[in-house]
Amino acid sequence: MASHKVVLHFPLHQLNRPVVNDLIKTYDLDFNILRAEVTPDEKGFVVLELTGEEDNFRKGVEWLDTLGVTVQPLSEDVVRLEDRCTHCGACVTTCPVDALYVERPSQQVIFEQDTCIGCGICVKVCPAAAMAVQF
Ligand code: SF4
Ligand code: SF4
Repeated sequence: MASHKVVLHFPLHQLNRPVVNDLIKTYDLDFNILRAEVTPDEKGFVVLELTGEEDNFRKGVEWLDTLGVTVQPLSEDVVRLEDRCTHCGACVTTCPVDALYVERPSQQVIFEQDTCIGCGICVKVCPAAAMAVQF
């Protein structure tokens, strides 16, 4: 028995389908929803803790992949290394929960750690390696 915290990103055409329900029934998983949202551009995501047999979890992730649902492991804690950030803005549009945004009129990119769900997307896109996962 294992437990995984993951972020599921849903494409538009899957938003009205009970994907999580089908997932837990088919693969005999327990779940705990930590956060769920449909963003203004009509994409959806849900942060879940899934518990079950490791093999079932793996098969469930494979099934989600066939539906176009992206599965990301949830990082522990994401921080910004302030001395590295150049406020280029490259991370802003990638954040699913608007934890990174441009403040007007200063044009500074603000990072709100309390809003961050630790998905780690910004870590991959930041050209200055200013976003980091802290363990
Ligand atoms: S992508 Fe990196 S350098 Fe650019 S604003 Fe975001 S954290 Fe700062
Ligand atoms: S890890 Fe980065 S992209 Fe993900 S929620 Fe936190 S700030 Fe946003």
